[in-house]
Amino acid sequence: MAIISSNIGDNDFSLGKKELRIVDSKIIPEEKRNNLNLARPLTLQEFIGQEKLKSSLRIAIDASIYRKEPLEHTLLYGQPGLGKTTLAFLIAHEMNTKCRIATAPSIERPRDILGLLLGLKEGEVLFIDEIHRLNRLTEELLYSAMEDFRIDLTMGANKGARCRTINLPRFTLIGATTKLASISAPLRDRFGISQKIEFYTNDELRQIIINFARLINLNLDDEASYSLSKISRGTPRIALRLLRRVRDYAQVVKKTNFISNNLVQKALNSYQIDEKGLDSLDRQYLSFLNLNNNVPTGLDSIAAGLGDDSSMLEFVVEPYLIQLGFLIKTSRGRLLTDLGKKYIDSKNGNF
Ligand code: ADP
Repeated sequence: MAIISSNIGDNDFSLGKKELRIVDSKIIPEEKRNNLNLARPLTLQEFIGQEKLKSSLRIAIDASIYRKEPLEHTLLYGQPGLGKTTLAFLIAHEMNTKCRIATAPSIERPRDILGLLLGLKEGEVLFIDEIHRLNRLTEELLYSAMEDFRIDLTMGANKGARCRTINLPRFTLIGATTKLASISAPLRDRFGISQKIEFYTNDELRQIIINFARLINLNLDDEASYSLSKISRGTPRIALRLLRRVRDYAQVVKKTNFISNNLVQKALNSYQIDEKGLDSLDRQYLSFLNLNNNVPTGLDSIAAGLGDDSSMLEFVVEPYLIQLGFLIKTSRGRLLTDLGKKYIDSKNGNF
């Protein structure tokens, strides 16, 4: 990641516009590479927050164990970084089985999904991320696999066509999506359990931060964990990433493993994240509306003006600005609130 440049000084941690954002909830290559398995809670008890979801899952898991059956197919939906993948691994762990993982865009041909299903053993979990992106053919093959644990294949064409049935082991499909509405009704109906993952409270995020700091041997004071939780946008992935960036700063610039609130503020400042937890892209977004005389502006115009992807703005940037009370969505377009205008005016174009 370009965040850490080779010549490190107090202010050398800046983020260029097109560089990866620290406060983006999508997974970044560093996190994929390191897999950060050590941060993943393995039992429902260790999983912080989502109390309602946890108690429904607890009952469903215990009932399946009691009946010696795989858990019903489960659909998890919610914004990136809220813990869908973590829950899939955790469910497999609680069911004392393995979790195989795939992303929908990598399942292109029928043989891809067949390979995945035939590779499963009795009772195992197959986790498909971004399940709304499955192609039609794969989706149709999944229907009978999910319902009857078998796949009907048509071999050959025209008069010579034969139907062959392949039996599968009983398994649990866990699908994850950020876009519930994009999942077709027939696929959605085949999930016995469907759970929304909500944003986390500051207290829950704080606990996640404290647990992770303990795991990576960081000494974090109370105020520091509180400040970090406040700007984590309700999202564990962002909270953990902020903590790792603060650790980089502490170890490289200050040569310490002790994280005080003062150090957090300095580190955030060097990454151009301000006291509200906004980074330069958030400020450019607000400034764009402000310079546009704050007339209601459509998302596509904002995206074109900023040279950014509209869905990224919609799902990553806007929710937090709305939560801070800086932005409202109207039927005619996006508008700054008085609070948002006051905030961006106070920055004097200084991003
Ligand atoms: P998603 O699949 O929804 O994008 P992940 O499951 O990959 O999110 O979670 C992102 C990161 O946040 C992981 O490092 C994970 O361990 C951590 N995390 C998510 N939810 C929790 C939680 N409730 N408690 C502790 N850590 C969590």
